[in-house]
Amino acid sequence: MSSASTGLHLGVLLMTGRAEDYERTMAFADIALGQMKALRQVAIPRNYEIWYAYATGYHPALNQQVNAILKAKGTISEGDLTQIYENYLSPARLTERIDQVGSQVRGEIDQVMAMIDAAVGSANSYTESLAGATEQLDRSKDREGLRAIVESLVQTTKTMEASNRQLEQRLTASKQEINELQVNLEAVRTESLTDPLTQLANRNCSDITLEKAIANALATNEPLSLMLTDIDHFKNFNDSFGHLTGDQVLRLVAMSVKHNVKGKDTAARYGGEEFAIVLPSTVLRAAVTVADHIRRAVMAKELMKRSTGEHLGRITISIGVATLRKGDSVQSLIERADECLYAAKRHGRNRVMCESDPEVAAERAATEVA
Ligand code: GH3
Ligand code: MG
Ligand code: MG
Repeated sequence: MSSASTGLHLGVLLMTGRAEDYERTMAFADIALGQMKALRQVAIPRNYEIWYAYATGYHPALNQQVNAILKAKGTISEGDLTQIYENYLSPARLTERIDQVGSQVRGEIDQVMAMIDAAVGSANSYTESLAGATEQLDRSKDREGLRAIVESLVQTTKTMEASNRQLEQRLTASKQEINELQVNLEAVRTESLTDPLTQLANRNCSDITLEKAIANALATNEPLSLMLTDIDHFKNFNDSFGHLTGDQVLRLVAMSVKHNVKGKDTAARYGGEEFAIVLPSTVLRAAVTVADHIRRAVMAKELMKRSTGEHLGRITISIGVATLRKGDSVQSLIERADECLYAAKRHGRNRVMCESDPEVAAERAATEVA
């Protein structure tokens, strides 16, 4: 086979097998290159990555910062781009920020320890001065001698006071620094557990939460339910209106999920267009009610493309709900919720199914026999 025909063959595969990824990423690439040309920026990979990320809108904070700089200066410098890359995209940024916070904490502790050493030193010498003064008092007979002792005591006390004030100022400054470090650390932690597109918890956070929630429910004998949702025919939606619009719809579904859960519940973006909701202290029936509220909230929304006013119709979601049993693991609970979700898909979509539904029980029995 000639290299030309191999190239053509690969091209065809790309268009058919991964057509939607191709279209989507090319749309992002066009926007990214358009921005770089408009701002006459060097087309190095780092700059392309920044503008590609900008085009996806996956990092709202990055877009906000870029927009703010463009608004203020009308352009964006190499220095700005370096800063933005380090803030939002550099693969090492979270580790670097954690290391940075760690070394700042160590620095603060060293400084405070040095101050405490110095304070202990001056307290010791103050005690010595007092002891010295007591001895002198015993020996001193005249007024002049007494005055000299009192003056020296006043002087030592002043020095002691000054060193205490210094220590106090240093401790106040340290307290402020440590508060700031705590805020930084919290921001890094939140970022590592958040899905940038929807601002819900990410898969990693959902896994951690579910594991803890299961351990807690088993230990306390409390109920726990898990909901898995998947958008219906979302591929068709992307194919019709584009992936960027699809992403906006994902945000909208995320909002509907968020508005319908509360308290100890955790809603997470579990996969591309799938969400998981962990519901502690919730029995199956109650979880099904919450699921139905979410389903109705999503289908109630008439979608419209803001930029063009184009009507996009409505979308629906299917939901599977399972509840914790004795002997369950993270895996087995997820599997049962997933079975219910796929039963909901098979039974026509835009519905909630749970493991006590006869259809699900029958299908489970059939697979167990098979
Ligand atoms: P079904 O009703 O059976 O769920 O049909 P579906 O087309 O939604 O099928 P499935 O859930 O398997 O498809 C996932 C599709 O969701 C593939 C892709 O087009 C879309 N998708 C996944 N992740 C994203 C994303 O991050 N953004 C956008 N816009 N679309 C996504
Ligand atoms: Mg899916
Ligand atoms: Mg789907």
